Amino acid sequence: MKYRTILLFGAPGAGKGTQGKILGTIPNFFHCACGDVFRNLTIDSELGRAFVKYSSKGKLVPDEYTARLWRDNIEAQTQLGRFDPERDTLVLDGIPRNKSQAEMLTEALDVIAVFNFVCADVSKLVERLQRRAVRDNRLDDANLDVIKKRLEIYEKETKPVLDFYGPKLVHDIDSTQTPINVLRDILRVIART
Ligand code: ADP
Repeated sequence: MKYRTILLFGAPGAGKGTQGKILGTIPNFFHCACGDVFRNLTIDSELGRAFVKYSSKGKLVPDEYTARLWRDNIEAQTQLGRFDPERDTLVLDGIPRNKSQAEMLTEALDVIAVFNFVCADVSKLVERLQRRAVRDNRLDDANLDVIKKRLEIYEKETKPVLDFYGPKLVHDIDSTQTPINVLRDILRVIART
């Protein structure tokens, strides 16, 4: 059975996490942020070590690790009764992050909409990330070189994923708006699907 899925898509700092958390509080929606799943790993596991190694440099964790972790996590959430694939819509944030992850997930996901958080002003993204570094204690957000690397990887590897899903599924959302207005734009589309 494929998971009915909404993808939150956009550069680091565009506000996907904020919206994902809100959407996850709505009955019959389940929010899964790939970065959070990684951050919950302990450092003494192979995956935890891989996460620290790559994320501290602003790089993506290799696809095999990411796919395995994601699958194990979603199965565990299902077992625990937090996610019910029959009933819930999955709100995915932070995955897929390149074309090969998108291909790997085609068997598992029935993607009904992709929300592309658009923010043309890079300085705004950087500012948000630096604020988050202190608030959420995120080391990968504290260093400007690491931030630049992540934005570069987003442009090069992640953005092409939009073409993979195509214009019929992709909805551009102006992420420079206030969170409430971003939410309004997302809900307008979801209410139609
Ligand atoms: P942001 O939304 O700010 O880019 P995340 O919290 O989603 O950050 O991810 C933090 C880090 O975790 C990434 O920089 C990357 O190293 C790793 N990561 C998260 N999701 C993936 C993924 N799908 N594939 C590879 N690496 C990932």
